[in-house]
Amino acid sequence: MDDSINYLLRGVQQEDRIALSRAITLVESKHPSHQKQAEELLEAILPKTGNSFRLGITGVPGVGKSTFIDAFGSYLTALGKKVAVLSIDPSSTRTKGSILGDKTRMERLSRNPSAFVRPSPSANQLGGVAQKTRESILLCEAAGYDVVIVETVGVGQSETAVHDMVDFFLLLMLSGGGDELQGIKRGIMEMADMILINKVDGENMKAGARAKKEYKRAVHLFPENEKGWNIPVETVSSTESRGLSTCWNHMTVYLEKVQGNGYLEKSRSEQTLAWFREALRQKLEQDFYEKYGANGEINRIIDAIRNGSLSIRSAISNLLKE
Ligand code: GDP
Repeated sequence: MDDSINYLLRGVQQEDRIALSRAITLVESKHPSHQKQAEELLEAILPKTGNSFRLGITGVPGVGKSTFIDAFGSYLTALGKKVAVLSIDPSSTRTKGSILGDKTRMERLSRNPSAFVRPSPSANQLGGVAQKTRESILLCEAAGYDVVIVETVGVGQSETAVHDMVDFFLLLMLSGGGDELQGIKRGIMEMADMILINKVDGENMKAGARAKKEYKRAVHLFPENEKGWNIPVETVSSTESRGLSTCWNHMTVYLEKVQGNGYLEKSRSEQTLAWFREALRQKLEQDFYEKYGANGEINRIIDAIRNGSLSIRSAISNLLKE
């Protein structure tokens, strides 16, 4: 292991935020020499990983995710926890609004010495981002963070990607307007371990109470999950920091339950295995195209598939014969 990696490793283990930040940058890098270094670093920190509560948070843009994380993260640090926040944003073209928004996002938490807030990686194909976020979670754990929050904008496949890397998946909703209106698919609601209705303050109190009843009724109809967990529905106000302790209580009860019944261990090992399979598939595919992509043969085969003169089966056996 070269000196710079040793230095980063020591920094991460000493819970130094700058070292952690540089380690994540290294892991995100596509440069082949960085990838080799990242591999060594990840291998070395592995024994120190796995000890955090991994919390995924989703909800449509504007629902209040960053405001909630700012408030909830601050609440947790006041309890003596160290909190890290990572984001997944699969959109390839970030709007001006979200770039400006990012600067002021989670302002309170960003200044908190017990917190580490990592801005979302520059957009990329989702697969790559998801792998790197998984590795970033491990780095945060090695750096001693007790709670690692992974936030995703509530669109497309990113929710499933985040759901598959966390212990607890939290869905933020608004009162008023059905879930269709909020652009949340039923499948996403069924993945949630808790539903929080945000912005229940001021004139919104009554609508919030009503929405809570409606969502409670809705989750009641969901098929029973193998964890044996009844999905709580609660109301919060992130701007007024209200409802946060209730929210944390549910999470601690959940953790005790899934630690006790073995579900946590089982789910994590399944997640790791799925991650391995996915990473292997991506690597094989990448290597394949690197090796044969420039080769005229593959283009000839693609043409033959297109015009229907070659079956997919034969195309693949021809290619793999090489
Ligand atoms: P995100 O896009 O989901 O991250 O949403 P933001 O956290 O950026 O919040 C969007 C807007 O909703 C901002 O103007 C927030 O101030 C506001 N907001 C967030 N949480 C609350 C809340 O609990 N109550 C009220 N009244 N406004 C909120």
